[in-house]
Amino acid sequence: MTVEAARERMVDLLVERGIRDDRVLRAMATVPRHEFVPPRYQGDAYADSPLPIGNGQTISQPFIVALMTEALALGPRGSVLEIGTGSGYQAAVLAEMGIEVYTLECLDGLASAARRRLRDLGYTGVRVFCADGNDGWPGGAPYEGVLITAASREVPRAPYAQLRLGGTMVLPIGDEENQELVKIRRGPDGAEEGFLGACRFVKLVGRHGWSK
Ligand code: SAH
Repeated sequence: MTVEAARERMVDLLVERGIRDDRVLRAMATVPRHEFVPPRYQGDAYADSPLPIGNGQTISQPFIVALMTEALALGPRGSVLEIGTGSGYQAAVLAEMGIEVYTLECLDGLASAARRRLRDLGYTGVRVFCADGNDGWPGGAPYEGVLITAASREVPRAPYAQLRLGGTMVLPIGDEENQELVKIRRGPDGAEEGFLGACRFVKLVGRHGWSK
């Protein structure tokens, strides 16, 4: 099977699993996920599963990427802060949708590799910073959306405060065993929460993460 056919099958599966946002589906039908995984996993790049990317980290499962991106309910443009660049795949999906992306990764090796990969694939507008996401990134605020792709015990205050009014943050909350994908809209009367289901992410390092 060609990578294009494998990618189409992946998108068909996302539709079967309930993803409806055309813009998300089109972006995921375009971004070459196989370029974001180590060579030995390229044959599995379009299966609906997370894969190791080195340093004990993983690229998220395509369905989770689609679900989180859809939940942001983004307008045509706007900017998004991602915390946990990892491979850079999620950032590329957002960039492909025409979104201005700021993404933070605390591991220098992953940040540099993602920066190079995104540039080589033509996603030249994505800004990758090696920084601790617990503080968010005031440089691009206010954001229309904030995505955290590592699990924390509680909602990190700084990135939430960097959302514009009406903006949405999507993140996994929980510990190593039990995590829930949460969506929080910054409404005029405060935070409005919604739950998207169970999930399993690597931990957010630092003060909002869990110890161990
Ligand atoms: N979104 C990624 C997958 C993320 S895996 C992708 O599309 O491939 C989670 C990433 O979050 C890991 O790379 C990990 O190093 C990073 N991370 C964990 N804690 C962090 C923190 N406090 N600040 C920034 N990045 C963090």
